[in-house]
Amino acid sequence: MNKPKIVILGAGYGGIITSKKLEKLLKSGEADVTLINKHDYHYITTQLHKTGIGTAADRQIAMSIPELIDISKTHFLKATVTHVDTDNKEVQLEGGETVNYDYLLIALGFEGQTFGIPGVKENAFELRSFRSSKAIYHHIKKQLNLYKEDQDPSRLTFVVAGGGFTGIELLGELADGLPKLCKEHDVPFEKVKIIGIEAAPSVIPFFPKQSVEYTTEVLRKLNIQLITSTKILGCTADKIILENKIEVPAKTLVWSCGVQGNTIVQKWGLPIEKGKLAVDSYLRVKNTKNVFSIGDCSLFMKDGKTSLAPTAQVALQQAPVCAKNIVASLRGESLTTFEYHHKGSVASIGLSAGVGKVGTVRLSGLIGSFMKLVIEARYLFNLGGPSLILKQHFGVNREQVKVTVKQ
Ligand SMILES: Cc1cc2nc3c(=O)[nH]c(=O)nc-3n(C[C@H](O)[C@H](O)[C@H](O)COP(=O)(O)OP(=O)(O)OC[C@H]3O[C@@H](n4cnc5c(N)ncnc54)[C@H](O)[C@@H]3O)c2cc1C
Repeated sequence: MNKPKIVILGAGYGGIITSKKLEKLLKSGEADVTLINKHDYHYITTQLHKTGIGTAADRQIAMSIPELIDISKTHFLKATVTHVDTDNKEVQLEGGETVNYDYLLIALGFEGQTFGIPGVKENAFELRSFRSSKAIYHHIKKQLNLYKEDQDPSRLTFVVAGGGFTGIELLGELADGLPKLCKEHDVPFEKVKIIGIEAAPSVIPFFPKQSVEYTTEVLRKLNIQLITSTKILGCTADKIILENKIEVPAKTLVWSCGVQGNTIVQKWGLPIEKGKLAVDSYLRVKNTKNVFSIGDCSLFMKDGKTSLAPTAQVALQQAPVCAKNIVASLRGESLTTFEYHHKGSVASIGLSAGVGKVGTVRLSGLIGSFMKLVIEARYLFNLGGPSLILKQHFGVNREQVKVTVKQ
């Protein structure tokens, strides 16, 4: 008898943890598992601000997928998914190859959202993937080099749009990392301007007043100019156009104003709500019995009312339940309902400050930044045990991940 085929699309937080759980749950020879991802590396999205400025080594952020999984149990395919044909239970890949499935998990993550603001898609950078963060790093270095030739101050103006967690993490990292980069390129750091622009009246507006005040104070101490209550109307390669006819001459804009689910899933004839795959309480795409979806490309309604935010925390809690339910489906057993428990949110602001909330405890300062490190270390531990932490942080037995980016 043919073994059931389980296919996982996406090796981000949701996909990779599900495949690792399946390795443990499936009996030998019980099913064939294939994991498909467009790159052969998995990356720590929550640390991409560091790759963007070069304050962390690439090996700390990106790691080889075949090294993370058990290749005797999971077949890895580096390929880009273009279509899913649910009638024929077939995944189509760029290049024309197809992969058949009996059970499918769609965990294809997110895309940046530009809200159709003119020039943003063409000119702004995004902190979305390892590749896009490397593009920021190379662009910054290029601007520092060109500044030495033309002394154009707009080359030394670095603007971050969006004052949410990602925005403040990037602002803090720019303030921490640019002095060293400037020194390496023989450019005076005193001439650098770092600007954060936010449409709401403050940064992290969804957080308690004390956290907002603390974050604003830390950013100001880092000489970051904050422009709040101001919308960006457009941008070109050389300037950012704000409301009230203000223009900021700058050759670097990093857009960090929100994400949406990967829009590719909208074209597959599956139920879509708010642009994402609508899933039931078992993480199955609605109206299907054999297609599951987790993470940022799926919409799970907590208590049937509130949708969950697109966070790694959600994807990581969904993955083990999803793995369990895939195995239960193929064994004809009953499925487990997914329940989300919010544990907190923490953001770093450079190396020595952080802000957030864990449980009911509000965090700030060094303890906040330390907690962010603890969360990352915990994830690495779950992914590959203590040996992965050693590999990531000390480069033990570790080859560099190779990425090509437009420079
Ligand atoms: C800068 C930044 C900071 C963040 N910080 C935090 C934080 O501190 N805490 C937190 O909880 N969350 C944070 N998030 C959110 C978190 O990263 C996401 O919620 C999480 O990555 C979602 O996991 P996922 O598995 O759904 O998707 P992803 O992790 O995005 O994985 C999707 C995978 O699918 C692959 N893929 C996409 N399209 C295709 C295709 N067509 N074919 C093949 N492969 C494809 C991608 O390469 C990727 O590997 C942050 C996000 C960003 C961008």
